[in-house]
Amino acid sequence: MKDCIFCKIVANEIPSYTVYEDDIVKAFLDISQGTPGHTLVIPKKHIPDIFEYDEELASQVFARIPKIARAVKASNPDIKGMNILNNNGQVAYQSVFHSHFHLIPRYSSNDDFKMIFKDNSNKYDSDALKKIQDSIVAHMGD
Ligand code: 5GP
Ligand code: ZN
Repeated sequence: MKDCIFCKIVANEIPSYTVYEDDIVKAFLDISQGTPGHTLVIPKKHIPDIFEYDEELASQVFARIPKIARAVKASNPDIKGMNILNNNGQVAYQSVFHSHFHLIPRYSSNDDFKMIFKDNSNKYDSDALKKIQDSIVAHMGD
């Protein structure tokens, strides 16, 4: 897609530090290196976000992530864990609208990556949870 920075990376019009590629995906170092080894895995096909995948492409992309994650982890003995993150929509911190999965190696709880899940469980009774459940189930489709 014209004007998509990741399509340009796929086409090698913009250089990248590629660590893996095949006919379906390309994996390359994120320029920001949130933590050392921070890698992006993208489908070569331009897909804006998770909502636009069909099952075939999703299974092809997801199938490749563990292998790439294992290689990133094995690349540095100091890597103790990894966050795999996929942002969808500006409100969810997506800034490049060509779908991508962040592989963020974790070195310690004090490294440069933070994630906060607020615990709101005390605000939901079973009726409220059931209502949310029913609404999602009603939209599940095939
Ligand atoms: P998002 O915020 O959309 O989840 O993540 C986009 C990521 O793309 C950011 O972490 C940013 O550092 C990375 N990025 C943006 N432009 C480039 C680029 O030209 N090359 C590489 N390697 N990464 C990029
Ligand atoms: Zn693109």
